Amino acid sequence: MARQVVIGLEIHLQLNTKTKLFCECSTDYIGATPNSNVCQICLAIPGTLPIINDHAVELAVKMGLGLHCTINDNTRFHRKHYFYADLPKAYQVTQYEHAIATGGYLDIVVDGKKKRVRLDHLHLEEDAGKLVHPTSDGRLSGASYSLVDYNRGGIPLSEIVSMPDMNSAAEAIAYITQIRQLARYLKVSDGEMESGSLRVDVNVSLSNPDGSLGTRVEIKNVNSLKSIERALDYEIARQNRALDTGEPLYMETRLWDDVAGVTRSMRNKESARDYRYYLEMDLAPIDAKPEYVQKIRESMPEMPWDKRDRFVEQYGLSFEDSVKITEQLEMAEYFEKCVAQGAPADKAANWLMIEISRVLNEKGICICEFGVDAAETGKLIAKIAAKELSNTQAKDVFAVMIEKCCTLEEAIKSSGASVGRVEGCALEQIVRKIIDGQPEVAETIRSGEDKKGGKMKFLQGLVMRETRGSANPAEVAQLIEKLLK
Ligand code: ADP
Ligand code: MG
Ligand code: ZN
Repeated sequence: MARQVVIGLEIHLQLNTKTKLFCECSTDYIGATPNSNVCQICLAIPGTLPIINDHAVELAVKMGLGLHCTINDNTRFHRKHYFYADLPKAYQVTQYEHAIATGGYLDIVVDGKKKRVRLDHLHLEEDAGKLVHPTSDGRLSGASYSLVDYNRGGIPLSEIVSMPDMNSAAEAIAYITQIRQLARYLKVSDGEMESGSLRVDVNVSLSNPDGSLGTRVEIKNVNSLKSIERALDYEIARQNRALDTGEPLYMETRLWDDVAGVTRSMRNKESARDYRYYLEMDLAPIDAKPEYVQKIRESMPEMPWDKRDRFVEQYGLSFEDSVKITEQLEMAEYFEKCVAQGAPADKAANWLMIEISRVLNEKGICICEFGVDAAETGKLIAKIAAKELSNTQAKDVFAVMIEKCCTLEEAIKSSGASVGRVEGCALEQIVRKIIDGQPEVAETIRSGEDKKGGKMKFLQGLVMRETRGSANPAEVAQLIEKLLK
């Protein structure tokens, strides 16, 4: 039997709070002077007591509810011991046996197929500080001294631990992407891998011939989706090779080296005993009564996957388009505001995915920074649909709207686009002018030599260009025929 790839992920999300988990220090550490956001509590001065940040609890509960977890009342914190300078207390305050949220699942979609990934639990914990080694590669090895910055120490994290339910790199990527999307919809976390507000530890093994779980390796230092994919490919090949040649595999932590494209053994996997967990008596149990949880549940927005399915149902979007439109909440909201102004759903979706996405990419901004109001864009798309503006005109007008961040009406005025379609007498005049300008072509058609209709198309094209696309092609064809007779 072929060995099956088995993957389980631990995702750390930095919670969007203004202050740290147990003190009032700012969480704004990026670019801050080292050790400027610290106090007696997060520096572990003896005699100080931690105070739980209610907002962090609320965000963890929100995320847990989004992931269909059971929210537990009376949950506790534990001290997890390890000796490393990034931890001023020499232990991290985390949740061990009594996590705030347990169970739950996330349905992912890979290659059009839905798959359920079960979760073990979600818990709250504090982040560690950051060590800075003055070596060329930033590694400890070879450094004559090291510096420590505690600005990040004590920032609230929620760790989401999956069951070993994923069986390919593609499934792992889909899972991470969807966790990130949920965190952003719920405004629980920025979920940015580049800045470290979303960090992933990847556990991977190959199943035994009898189908039971094999020896797992935990990979750390994977800082982008791309490196997760590469690290998994590398590690799966390495484990396959070891099993083929009978080399032993160890349960260990391995570090991904993005430059060399390899994983390297870092340390044997520590066991729970190594951490000497014990109850954090300085903190009271977390109060998460059913009424409190219910209140948070009621405050939650529509889930991204519900929105995705609703857009298919309600607006007739294809599944793929709906995935793209609902990827970001702000994009989905923009879409619905366009539709509310009378823009047909398929046209609004296209306009977003093509015209607007191009501008966003060019400017490197997100839709929340896009200057054109959704209602104005919606009116513009509605005008295209009603044939009051040709596509070409609409693009010109839209360019003005983007440049000046103005309304549709203002843009139409200043772009000088003749709004409304060219028809009837006005159109007849244009057609006559075009025919008069092309006597030879006209003669060819009259004498019946335009068998394939190419000359006819040529005239139609000239008329469309003259009207900037705002004539009805069928009417143009009729007029040409009429005037040629
Ligand atoms: P630890 O906290 O020591 O890393 P856990 O028991 O919390 O250990 O498991 C961590 C992760 O490892 C979980 O996401 C789990 O799904 C995953 N995992 C457990 N066993 C395996 C395995 N055999 N192969 C792949 N992943 C596994
Ligand atoms: Mg682990
Ligand atoms: Zn502090």
